Amino acid sequence: MKRPKTRAKGKNVPAVTRVTLAPSDAASWQYAPAPETYDYFKIAPRYGLFIGGKWVAPKDGRRFPTLNPATEEVLTHVAEAGPADVDRAIKAARNAYERYWRRCSPQTRAKYLFRIARAITERSRELAVLESLNGGKPIRESRDVDIPLAAAHFFYYAGWADKLEWAFPNRHPEPLGVAGQIIPWNFPLLMAAWKIAPALACGNTVVLKPAETTPLTALWLAEIIEQADLPPGVVNVITGGGDTGAALVRHPDLDKVAFTGSTEVGKQIAIQCARLRRPVTLELGGKAANIIFEDAPMDQAVEGIINGIFFNQGHVCCAGSRLLVQESAIELVVDKLYRRIQSLRVGPPLDKNTDVGAINSKAQLAKIDELARSGEQAGRPRYQTECALPSRGYWFRPTFFTEVALSDRIAQEEIFGPVLSVMTFRTPDEAVEKANNTRYGLSAGIWTDKGSKNFKIAAQLRAGVVWGNTFNKFDPSSAFGGYKESGFGREGGIFGLLPYVKDRWRSA
Ligand code: NAP
Ligand code: MG
Repeated sequence: MKRPKTRAKGKNVPAVTRVTLAPSDAASWQYAPAPETYDYFKIAPRYGLFIGGKWVAPKDGRRFPTLNPATEEVLTHVAEAGPADVDRAIKAARNAYERYWRRCSPQTRAKYLFRIARAITERSRELAVLESLNGGKPIRESRDVDIPLAAAHFFYYAGWADKLEWAFPNRHPEPLGVAGQIIPWNFPLLMAAWKIAPALACGNTVVLKPAETTPLTALWLAEIIEQADLPPGVVNVITGGGDTGAALVRHPDLDKVAFTGSTEVGKQIAIQCARLRRPVTLELGGKAANIIFEDAPMDQAVEGIINGIFFNQGHVCCAGSRLLVQESAIELVVDKLYRRIQSLRVGPPLDKNTDVGAINSKAQLAKIDELARSGEQAGRPRYQTECALPSRGYWFRPTFFTEVALSDRIAQEEIFGPVLSVMTFRTPDEAVEKANNTRYGLSAGIWTDKGSKNFKIAAQLRAGVVWGNTFNKFDPSSAFGGYKESGFGREGGIFGLLPYVKDRWRSA
C-alpha cells in the first residue's frame, strides 16, 4: 500500500514531515498482553425473560445463541420472546403502572433510580467486561465510557423524578403509561439507560427489547433492577430479534414507543405509530461531517478524527464518518492521519491496550466490506492499517478513502464501521453546503482556532449535536437527537423528559 502522494494545491501548503511506517515499525508499538479477567462472575448456559419481576421461560420455548464476536464462541443462549411473551410483558407493565408506579411518590421513584445507579457503579467492572465480551468493543471504552455514562444517566434522571414541576413550570406533567423501548447493539447498556431512566423518572413503566446480538448487559440490568427491589413489572426485559420488536410496536396496549436503530426500521415504526396515533421518538442513523479548517490545532484535530470514526469500531450513529478538510491543509491532515492509524492496535476487546475491537457481527462485517469495496470501485485511493488481525472473529482494519466525491456511496450511505471518507472544501460556505448534503443530520464537528468561526458554522449545520474542537463527547444533561432522517425527539437533559409526559397546561 502506498502512502499519500503530495499534490500541492495553492500557496498555503504547509511543509510536511513525512514518515514512512512499514508494518515492522508498527510492530514496535506492541505491548505485552493485558487482558481483563472475568473469572469472578458466571454466565449461565441459558437465560429467560424478565417479566413482572420474575424470570420466565418463553412461551414457545425458543432460544438463540449469543456470541463473542472476537472469537465467534457462544457465550450463552437467550430466550426469543414471541407475541404471547410480548403480551405478557405489556400486561405486567400495565398492571405495575396502575397499581404501583403512577401512585408512588416522586421521591420514592427517585430512590429506586438512585439505587439502580449505585448498583451499576458497584458492578461496573463486571458490566464493562460483559459489554466487551458480547459487543466486541475495547474494554477501555466499556470501562471508561459506556458503564460510567449509563450510571450517570440513572443518577441524573433520579434527580429529576421529584422536580418535574420545576422542569415544566406552570404545567401539570403526567406520565403516559406503558412505554415500549427498542435499542441497538452499539451501546447496549448505555442505550438501555437512556431509555429507561427518563421513562421511570416521569412515572411510566417499560418493556425493553435489546438487540439480538447484545442482550447480556440488558439482562444484567434486569437483575440489578430485581435486586433494587423495584415493584414487579415496572421494568420488563424481553430478548429477541426484529420480530419481537415488531410485535412490541404493534401491540394495541402501548402508550409510547421509543426506538433507537436504523433509519430503515425507524420509518416502518413511524408509519405504524402514525396509524395507531401513538407517540413515538426515533433516534436513527447518521453520516456526520467532521470539518477541519486550515487554522485548526492539527494534532488535536487528528486525534478528534480518530476518536470520531474509530471509537467503538465506528459503530456509532454520530460517528464523524465524513471528513471535510480545507484544501490548503489536505496534505498535512492526510499524512498525519495515515501515520496515526498505523499505531492503532486492533485486537482482543478485553485487552486494555486495544484501541479498535471486533466488529459486532458477521452481517455487519459483510455490510462494511461491501461499502468499502464500492469506494475502491469508484476509484478512490484507500488507506488502512497494516497490523495483523486475529484469525477468528470479525475484524476490519481502520480505513480511509481520499478524493471522495459527494455522490459516492461511501459519502452518502451510513457504513457504521471504521471507514472514513475524506473530501475537501475551499470556503466556509462550501464546507457548510457539503456537510449538509446528506439525508441525515445527527451530529457534526468543527475544528478551528477561531471561536467566532466555530459558532457561525455551527449555527448553519443541520445537525442535532455540533462539537467544537472535540468529538463524541456525551453528558446526561445535554440533549441528543437528529434532524431529517436521523429521527425526531430528543434524549438526554431536560428535553429527554418531554417524550415521557403528557404536557398539559395547568387549568387555572
Ligand atoms: P436496527 O436493525 O434498526 O435494529 C435496532 C433495534 O430494532 C434492534 O433491537 C432490532 O432487533 C430491532 N428491530 C429490527 N427490526 C425491527 C422491526 N421491524 N420492528 C421493531 N424492531 C425491530 O439497527 P441496528 O442495525 O441494530 O443498529 C444500527 C443502526 O442504529 C444504525 O443505523 C445507527 O445509526 C442507529 N443508531 C442510532 C442511534 C441514535 O441515537 N440516533 C444510536 C445507536 C444506533 P435486532 O437486533 O434483532 O435486529
Ligand atoms: Mg438489525
